[in-house]
Amino acid sequence: MSMLGALAVAAGFSMFAAPSAYAVEGYITAINLGGTGVMCEPRVGGSIWPVNGTNAGNARFFYCGTSTAANRGSNVYNSAKGISSLESAVGTLMTNKNVKVYVMDSPLQYATASGNNPQTVWNAQVNNPALSLFTADGDPENAIIVYENVANPAAGYPNVMTNSSTLQAHDTKHEAGHHFDLHMTGTRLSNSTTYKNLYPDDVAYSAANNPNHATQYNTTFKYWWQNRAELFAEEFAIVFGSASARPVDVPTSTYFICTKAFVFGWGRNQAAPSSYAEPHCTPNTP
Ligand SMILES: [Zn+2]
Repeated sequence: MSMLGALAVAAGFSMFAAPSAYAVEGYITAINLGGTGVMCEPRVGGSIWPVNGTNAGNARFFYCGTSTAANRGSNVYNSAKGISSLESAVGTLMTNKNVKVYVMDSPLQYATASGNNPQTVWNAQVNNPALSLFTADGDPENAIIVYENVANPAAGYPNVMTNSSTLQAHDTKHEAGHHFDLHMTGTRLSNSTTYKNLYPDDVAYSAANNPNHATQYNTTFKYWWQNRAELFAEEFAIVFGSASARPVDVPTSTYFICTKAFVFGWGRNQAAPSSYAEPHCTPNTP
């Protein structure tokens, strides 16, 4: 996706308090997003992605915001660690692909870090409090960026407002879903023949059973339900414990049964399900 294309939307639950074993190495300029001048603090010394680096050079979690609280960045790193804890193979995959996680103050800081025009970034990220970068798309790094403050459209550029801890955590998982989608097999699972076969089964099931389908599909949840990559990433967040962070999540779980089962299979077993419980799921029939 483009630099601003892989926008997130994901949430979760914190599985750990911050272990005292974390080493804090002070703020450094160890950032390679194409711009300059952003100081970030690596967090290393944990046992699982993204805090399983041993020094600033191989760190995968960076806090770039303004908080001085001891648990700064914890909304994001606890959410990411929750993925590794629930499914170590996914944490290993993220480690092997060197997927870095940055907690940034706001889109304005990301603009500085990436060398992009701040107003362009601010405009692009209204309603999108996180994004992903992919080296496969020409980006400098595989990275997840989550904001502590997001664009405030009511107040206008360059104003920002607090991003909730729930959405920081949710977006982290959603963005990890975009990386899993690409990195698990090297070709996007959301673009696989099976997922493409299951998707219309779910849309038809929702149309037949969901009294709010038309409005949700065409308007409210269009961002997720009419874009397979976004649906996959949201289903990944749901599968990894972010079950109701956004209004789209419960109806997705209720009606997008086949594609969610596919994501569960890959996410938790690293393979497509051997069977689908619902008879309307026809993975092998276009
Ligand atoms: Zn997304």
